Formats: sequence, structure tokens, C-alpha cells
Amino acid sequence: WAKSRGKAQYAVYDEVMRQRALQRLQMETEIRQALRQEQFRVYYQPIVQLSTGRVVGFEALLRWEHPERGLVSPAEFIPIAEETGLIVQLDRWILQEAYWQNVRWLAQMGKKAAVTLSVNLSGKQFSQPGLVEFIARLLSNTDLDPSYLKLEITESLITESDGEAVEQLVQLRKLGVLISIDDFGTGYSSLSRLHDYPIDTLKIDRSFISRIGPNGENAETIRMIITFAHSLGMDVIAEGIETLQQLHLIKLLNCEYGQGYFFAKPLKPADAEHLLRTQLG
Ligand code: C2E
Ligand code: MG
Ligand code: MG
Ligand code: MG
Repeated sequence: WAKSRGKAQYAVYDEVMRQRALQRLQMETEIRQALRQEQFRVYYQPIVQLSTGRVVGFEALLRWEHPERGLVSPAEFIPIAEETGLIVQLDRWILQEAYWQNVRWLAQMGKKAAVTLSVNLSGKQFSQPGLVEFIARLLSNTDLDPSYLKLEITESLITESDGEAVEQLVQLRKLGVLISIDDFGTGYSSLSRLHDYPIDTLKIDRSFISRIGPNGENAETIRMIITFAHSLGMDVIAEGIETLQQLHLIKLLNCEYGQGYFFAKPLKPADAEHLLRTQLG
């Protein structure tokens, strides 16, 4: 009895696995098609300087305008894009889009409206050849200061890297682009290891901000991260600020920048541009 039940369970398991593999294959095909048919969009979420309230940058975030399913969020397709390696193409596509968008904004609105554009890079980028060359070529197209481009990498790139990723980061930094470490605090990198990496900005993960209590509870870890980042000469962005109370506390802790729904959700290019124009005064 036990044996046959075991068999039946295996059959169910196999079926689930088969379904999953099929779905993944379907999604992979769809992503390729979406790239060809230009269904991907870039949304821009403001990054705000807390001392002045000014928008000093945007993070470029990928959206998929699916003909039937509407706007698809990255959570639904990034994991599969990572597994299949398609993320390498997607990242490079958005990198290019966001870069040229910034070039156009600067041309239209001038230096007073200049902002830094941050783009997410999957760890996969660093095991594929040509990343540094790709970015160098992109930068050589214009005389936009390379420091208006910022690359967001994850903590795992540092904890799991074999030195090759670090070498590429050093080369990218030599090109003049800036590096942020994203979702900080969710991985396992010890603070002290950060010493060894060329990082300009640390982004504190949203989970820390959302745990701040009504009376400022749970702020100690945040304070520690900020103090440490500053001691290494990095500036800090608090991710996921949703309330005025969170904003107040984050400011008290000497965090320079914030990002979150309290300021704005990720915006369509036209809305981001509008925001920049209103800032021009
Ligand atoms: P991330 O890089 O940490 O981006 C921030 C995410 O937090 C965005 O989700 C943003 O919409 C969300 N967010 C910002 N403020 C708030 C807030 O106040 N409350 C809440 N609840 N959420 C907030 P999104 O756009 O869904 O992206 C999710 C993740 O997908 C990104 O996290 C990033 O890891 C990945 N991703 C997005 N675009 C790209 C891309 O072009 N390339 C790669 N490799 N990954 C990307
Ligand atoms: Mg990011
Ligand atoms: Mg993040
Ligand atoms: Mg994240």
C-alpha cells in the first residue's frame, strides 16, 4: 500500500514539475517575443534629497505592457528571465533606454534639471562577456557626464563573487559611472566586507523601513547601517518610504536620500518629465 501511494505521489510530483517546465518555456518564448515587439516599458521612480525635497534622480524599473494581461510587474517575469539568461538582454535594453532618456531630458531642460539615472543590473550580467564594453560604448555616444549613470547591484554579487565581478566593478567605476548596492540588509554580506568594494551608494532595503514602529521602534539597525555607510564614504538611500513618520525618522538618522510611495510611485516617462519641469521653477 505504502509503495503504491509513494508511486502515486511521484506521479503527481512529476506532473507538477512538467507543468512548471512548460510554463517556464512558454514565458521564455513570450519574453523573447515581447522584446521583438517592443512591449517593454521603462518607468521612473523619483529619488529625493531629504534635506531639500528635490528630485535628484530616478530609478529605472522595467514594466511589460502585455497585449492581453496589461501591465505585468517584474516580480512575475524577472525570475524566469534570470533563469533563462534573458535578463542580460533585458537589462541592457533598459540601460540603453534610460540612458538616452536622460540625454534627451538634459538637452531639453538643461543642467539645472540634471538627474542621476539608476539602472538595476542582474548578477548574471557579470558572468556574461562584454558588460564593461557595452557601457563604455554607450557612454561614448554623448558627452553626458558618466556620473549621471548609476548601476544598482545586489548584495549577493559581492558575497558570491569570485573576484571577476569586482574587477568589472572597478573597471566600470574607472569609466566614471557610479555603483549602488541595492536591497542592503537582505543578504548575508557582513558590513566589514563592503570595505573591499567600489561602492558609492547604499540602498537600505524596504523591509527595514516598513518595520519602523509608531514610536520609532526598530530604528537601531537602520542607524547602524547609515553610520557604517558614512564611515566608508558612501551615501545612503532609504527604500520604500511610505509615511511621513518614516520620513521624519529617516531624516533624523542623517540619511541623505529617500525613495518610496510617499514621494511617488514609478512614473511613466511623461510624468517623470513633468515632475522635472515643475522643479525648474
Ligand atoms: P528594486 O530594484 O529594489 O526596486 C524597487 C522596488 O520597490 C520597485 O518594485 C518599486 O516599485 C518598489 N517600491 C518603491 N517604493 C515602494 C514603496 O514605498 N512601497 C512598496 N511596497 N514598494 C515600493 P518593482 O518595480 O516591482 O521591481 C521589483 C524588483 O524587480 C526590483 O527591486 C528589481 O530587483 C527588479 N527589477 C525591476 N526592473 C529591473 C530591471 O530592469 N533589471 C533587473 N535586473 N531587475 C529589475
Ligand atoms: Mg533597484
Ligand atoms: Mg531595492
Ligand atoms: Mg528589491
